[in-house]
Amino acid sequence: MVKPYLWVSPCLEISLFPGHAVITRHNQGYTVRQCLLKDPTITMAMTVAELITGFEAWAPPAWQEKWDNCGWQIEPGICSEPAGVLVCLTPTLAVLEEAIALKQQGNPVNVIFAHHPLIFSPLKSVQMGDPVAEMVLVAIRNGIGVYSAHTNFDQVANGTADVLGQKLHLQDSTPVVPTQPEVGYGRVGNLSEPLLLGDLLIQIQTALSPPALLYSPEASLQQPVQRVAVLGGSGASYIEDVAKTGAQVYLTSDCKFHQFQAARDRGLILVDAGHYATERPACEKLATIFQTQGVDWVRLSDRDEDFRQFFPAVVS
Ligand SMILES: [Zn+2]
Repeated sequence: MVKPYLWVSPCLEISLFPGHAVITRHNQGYTVRQCLLKDPTITMAMTVAELITGFEAWAPPAWQEKWDNCGWQIEPGICSEPAGVLVCLTPTLAVLEEAIALKQQGNPVNVIFAHHPLIFSPLKSVQMGDPVAEMVLVAIRNGIGVYSAHTNFDQVANGTADVLGQKLHLQDSTPVVPTQPEVGYGRVGNLSEPLLLGDLLIQIQTALSPPALLYSPEASLQQPVQRVAVLGGSGASYIEDVAKTGAQVYLTSDCKFHQFQAARDRGLILVDAGHYATERPACEKLATIFQTQGVDWVRLSDRDEDFRQFFPAVVS
């Protein structure tokens, strides 16, 4: 069968998720990237295998942390099927039920593409009643796979941290903790012009719609700020690294009482917008990237959840 792809080498421009695959190799000290572009004269649906190959060339699972579990969580024999992707932050039974309902309505969904892994500890048994095991059983029964891109997606361009920086229009942002050239954890950059802290918090509130926004004690809303660091999800362990970048403000989530104290003691204004609000924008962007790259059916989950509630309820 003729595959609808052409190899080109090297890419003139490394963009979001160029072509359907980007292969990075090292040649005499230089990084050479090649990409696989779809031949526009041949129309053939991108398969699940091609989707995953392309994604993993862009954000290799080999970049993941030792404790992480990126890649297939459940693969019920769907790799040769045309890809139909439901993108979410966290793979839950609610998201799986959403996928099944969409499938029953005639939508060709067969992959839940999640940021958070479903399986962290190896399963010792698979029984109904256990939340993870139940998802495994229900997913296989319904022919729906679950794939996760976690700490590899945190580091890459257009991943969780990079997209959060884009939401604040950070200029010339670079990783807070580089792991390789232009790749790494967090992003730090400058606002296009100095803003009063109060105006920056309004901008964050508008861009991310968090149910609550916490910020450091003793920070004046009237003080001008320009250099800002961001890291989607739980980023308090990077406070020391962020302080070394010269950032005045650090937007992240899941910060504890004494971590606010530690940031205050380093002269860093810590802003906690919550885990969901700081990572969900990257899922939105990923769905757009998949669409741009030619996946026939892509949708962002409506059942993704922020697992916290606030009282009184926040009306958005
Ligand atoms: Zn997360």
